Amino acid sequence: MGITQAYAAQSEDSGLAPYNFERRALRDDDVAIEIDYCGVCHSDVHVVENDWGGSQYPVVPGHEIIGRVTAVGSAVTNYKSGDLVGVGCMVDSCRSCSACDSGLEQYCDEGMTATYGGIDRHDGSVTMGGYSDNIVVSERFVVRVPENLDPASAAPLLCAGITTYSPLKHYNVRKGHKVGVVGMGGLGHMGVKFAKALGAEVTLFTRSESKVAEAKKQGADHVVVSTDRSQMKAVSNSFDFLLDTIPVAHDLNPYLKCLKHDGTHILVGLLSAIEPPVNAGLLLLKRRVIAGSLIGGMPETQEVLDFCAEHDISCDVEMLDIRNINDAYVRMKKGDVKYRFVIDMNTLKSG
Ligand code: NDP
Repeated sequence: MGITQAYAAQSEDSGLAPYNFERRALRDDDVAIEIDYCGVCHSDVHVVENDWGGSQYPVVPGHEIIGRVTAVGSAVTNYKSGDLVGVGCMVDSCRSCSACDSGLEQYCDEGMTATYGGIDRHDGSVTMGGYSDNIVVSERFVVRVPENLDPASAAPLLCAGITTYSPLKHYNVRKGHKVGVVGMGGLGHMGVKFAKALGAEVTLFTRSESKVAEAKKQGADHVVVSTDRSQMKAVSNSFDFLLDTIPVAHDLNPYLKCLKHDGTHILVGLLSAIEPPVNAGLLLLKRRVIAGSLIGGMPETQEVLDFCAEHDISCDVEMLDIRNINDAYVRMKKGDVKYRFVIDMNTLKSG
């Protein structure tokens, strides 16, 4: 496939820098894609900085990938050269367990193969993501991007979009429901848009006074500044669902009090221990539920792109020159991005 230009981290404190490697030759069911845009997810920061442990260096992050097909393997039936396509958080799974059979490849019994930092099921190599000029992916893990979506702002739909859309659909969020979205970054701003589009009454919980007006522009009906106890108390026992996108350990107890009886607190941001401990009384006394949700399967990833095309929904993005990626990580950790960085991959090609 020739040399792939990319940005990689060599260790947890190296930051990201230019890096070249070789993609695999096309397998029969593979699609080769020239990457135009790649979103920057907070998960990229977690993996680069080894927050979850087990990161395999070099790490080439990036799982919000949009590009054009440049070649296809002999058995590919759904794509041809020139098609506008996307690749999200996974590039393979066992394809035969009940989860995979149900189009829920993210819950594969053997574990999905992540787009970066995963282990390729055929040759044992470490997968390399979308901060690069091309990628090779089995067609089962490629989605079609509707031509009426702006490709740069469609990139975050492949992760931030599907991760918030999937649980809202799973719990059948609709008119009559009150939904709180906790944290307004990449995931949160999409959660607000989707909950609103599905008909719910939407409240954003944010630490940041400065996001109050913006949240309303995104479609939130109400905003609660979560650091203000009186505002939190005023919404006790109010919500059917909370969609919690906070990326670090945080106290769930004040949020649980905001759920009605039978309400569900859906964690999508936190992938490690819940600390401080949850007061089980808050669950038992109102039959409240704490749940989690991981990205979405391939059929639903296609669905979210089509849903956005149909409802004219897009991500709010800040275009990024890849040479500024380390500064972007600093800003992301401060919650200072509106609301997703998307790398223009021309800056890699021309840099
Ligand atoms: P962002 O950094 O874009 O947004 C996170 C938001 O959370 C911030 O904007 C901020 O909102 C709030 N926040 C940040 N730090 C704190 C804190 N210390 N206390 C309270 N609130 C905080 O991140 P993303 O939206 O990209 O990702 C969020 C999380 O979701 C990450 O951990 C990521 O790994 C995870 N993730 C999970 C997936 C899944 O499948 N479940 C898939 C993709 C990502 P505000 O200023 O409004 O308070």
